[in-house]
This record gives sequence, structure tokens and C-alpha cells, in this order.
Amino acid sequence: MPRLTKQDIEQRTKQGRSGRPWRRVQAQVFAEESHCWWCGQWVDQSLPGQTHPMGRTVDHVHPLWMGGDPHDRTNCRLAHRRCNTIRNNQLRGAQQRRESLSVDVAAL
Ligand SMILES: [Zn+2]
Repeated sequence: MPRLTKQDIEQRTKQGRSGRPWRRVQAQVFAEESHCWWCGQWVDQSLPGQTHPMGRTVDHVHPLWMGGDPHDRTNCRLAHRRCNTIRNNQLRGAQQRRESLSVDVAAL
């Protein structure tokens, strides 16, 4: 997979979370799934998903900033806002650690 630049990622993330294909896949996830794929708990879809930590969000299994397809139904799963955020922070943290490690190894 070619390495994405910061601009590519921003572009992808922006495009991925707007427009009709995104709204369609989002509606499909909300209609077809009832539990958070990350923690396994039921998601109360009546909570405000934009603000409530336990509100519903669509999480990308293969994140957009790692080159995931934003509109592929198999890449989109229901998740609590809280779980979505925690998972993405963990993934980003893990990637940053790997990058700094590879720099250290190259410097030896
Ligand atoms: Zn959850």
C-alpha cells in the first residue's frame, strides 16, 4: 500500500464522511446493527450520536487514515462514540510507536 500524505488522509477523511454514499452506508449500519462491535454492549440509538459518549457512531474497521474504504459496508461497524474514539487513539498511538522504533533501528 502506498504511503498516504497528510493531505491525502485529510482529503479522504473529509470525502469519506460526507455525501450520499456515506449517509447511505451509515443508515445501513444503524438499521442492521444493534451492538457496539468494539465492546460488545448494546448501543442506545436514541442517544445523540454527535455528542453523547455512548451515542451511536459508524466506526471504520480499517480506518480511513490507514487507507480504509469509507463506503464499504464490510468496513463499517456500529460503535459507541466513546469506543470509536478510544480505539482510534490506540491505533494512532501504536502507529506512532512503530514509527519511532523504526527510526531508532535505522540509526544503529
Ligand atoms: Zn462500545
